[in-house]
Parts: sequence; C-alpha cells; structure tokens
Amino acid sequence: MAFEGLTERLQNAIAGLRRKGKVTDADLRETMREIRLALLEADVNFDVVKTFIKTVRERATGAKVLEGLNPAQQIVKIVDEELTKMMGEEATPLNKSAKIPTVIMMSGLQGAGKTTTVGKLALKLKNEENARPLLIAADIYRPAAIDQLEKLGDDMKIPVFSLGTDVNPREIVKQGLALAHEQHNDYVFIDTAGRLQIDQDLMNELADIKDIAQPDEILLVIDAMTGQNAVQTAEGFDERLNVTGVVLTKLDGDTRGGAALSIRAVTGKPIKFVGQGEKMNDLDVFYPDRMSSRILG
Ligand code: GDP
Repeated sequence: MAFEGLTERLQNAIAGLRRKGKVTDADLRETMREIRLALLEADVNFDVVKTFIKTVRERATGAKVLEGLNPAQQIVKIVDEELTKMMGEEATPLNKSAKIPTVIMMSGLQGAGKTTTVGKLALKLKNEENARPLLIAADIYRPAAIDQLEKLGDDMKIPVFSLGTDVNPREIVKQGLALAHEQHNDYVFIDTAGRLQIDQDLMNELADIKDIAQPDEILLVIDAMTGQNAVQTAEGFDERLNVTGVVLTKLDGDTRGGAALSIRAVTGKPIKFVGQGEKMNDLDVFYPDRMSSRILG
C-alpha cells in the first residue's frame, strides 16, 4: 500500500495527542516534532517540511485550538488542510486547445513510465470523450519504445505514427502533426526519448520538439518511488521546458510519499494524474484533498 510508513507515523503522532484530555503547548511542540520527522523520513523536501510545520503550528496556536474542545481533532483538520494545500488544493484538468488537435508532449527520464502513460491517457480520453487520438513515436533511441507504443496502440485500437529509428525525432514530430491535422485527430501525444539522467543533448532535442509542436500541454512523467530525486529531476526538466503538469507514476509501489508531497510545492507545477499500476486503466486524476485523507489514513 502506498504511504503506509507515513500514515502510520502520522497516526502515531496524533494518537499521542488524542490520549491527552488537555493539550499543552509542550504537547503540541512534541506532536509537531513527530510530524516533522515523519515527513522527513517520508523523503519530503526539507524546506517544504519547514514551511508546513511553521504554518500548522501558527494556525494551531493562533486559533486557540489548544484551549478549545477536541484539540487533537482540530489539529488533524489543520494538518489535513495544509497537506492538501501543499499538493495543490484542487485537481487541475488537462489543458485543451480551442481548435483540434490538442497537442500533449510527454517528457521524463527513461523508465519513469512515459510510454505507458501515453497509452493510459489516450485510452482514458477515448473512453471518456470518445476522442480520436494519434500517438507519435518519437523515442528513437530505445528501439523497444516504438514497439511498445505500437503494441499499446494495437491493443487499444488507437493509431500510432512512427518512422522507425533512423529518422530524426524532430522530423517524426513534424510529419506526425501534419498527419493529425489531415486526419482531424482531436489529440496528439508525442512520446519523447528519455535518458537515465538529464543531459544536454536530450534537453536540446526536447526543446526543439517543443518549438516545432507548440504543445498545449507538456507533461512531465515522474517515478514516485524515486522520492527527492524525482523532485530534482522535475526541477531540471521544468527549468528547460517549462512543463505544464506532472504525472506521478508508480504510486502503487511508493511506500514513502515524498515526491507526491513535495513536487507541487517545489516546482509550482500541478500533479495532474497519478499512475497506480501497470494496467492501462491504472491512471487517475490527482485530487490533493483525497490524497491528503489517504495519507492521514
Ligand atoms: P518510459 O521509459 O518512461 O517510456 O517507461 P515505460 O512506460 O516503459 O515504463 C517503465 C516501467 O514502469 C514499465 O514496466 C511499466 O509497466 C512500469 N510502470 C509505468 N507506470 C506504472 C505505474 O503507475 N505503476 C507501476 N507499478 N508500474 C508502472
């Protein structure tokens, strides 16, 4: 289960308060200390934790929570609200173009789940909006990526545009977009190359593809299981590409939760979707309030 470690620690921290009839300043300080450690252990960004703790403490003291009825319950409410805020408050929908096609460019490191997410999102749009997407296979460096996308397309009956691995990705994107205009596809997904780490060649290629495609949405696909590395990666991609949203994958295997809790606060970019499994229907809209409730257990 995702976040199990964090949930347990937060629950323990709050259980300490619940046992007290009256909560003193010192009790609050101790609880906040435990919450702080729980968040740091979950690999939440240090500055994000600092701001969070300060805000919760100020709200709890300012509102005279400690003197009121049920202080523990009120503190849980404040923690819940602040966790929700930290993750972006509300679900952020996909950017859509006024005229078709809406162009969605995917970016992210190799193995983060780009190709899988293209399939999941295209299927979601097909099912929910009766959309007719076109998938462009522009990851020519990992030959299996093209086969993988073509297989997904075959299974879901969604067309895939590919020119193999010998054509420059910029050219593939140009031709793919021309085809989408000709065929009146309403969405175009561009599956781009990833690397093990951010490097200049990759970033130049992605920046060129962005110039060519003028995407309505640049989704950064991030592996939740990589914690603070995911956050650093997100900053690196965002600096160069100015991404419009994040997809956090592999949340099903993320026992810590640090990336989910930090990415919005650190980059300012919304998490739009979360991947929660390998199957094509394991993609969900990200709701910060629901995620906060889930974390608090
Ligand atoms: P890419 O290199 O970024 O295109 O990554 P892939 O789409 O090939 O995904 C890499 C691996 O991660 C594959 O084995 C996927 O099945 C797996 N994967 C992708 N998203 C998720 C997810 O949300 N949960 C889990 N458990 N696995 C995922």
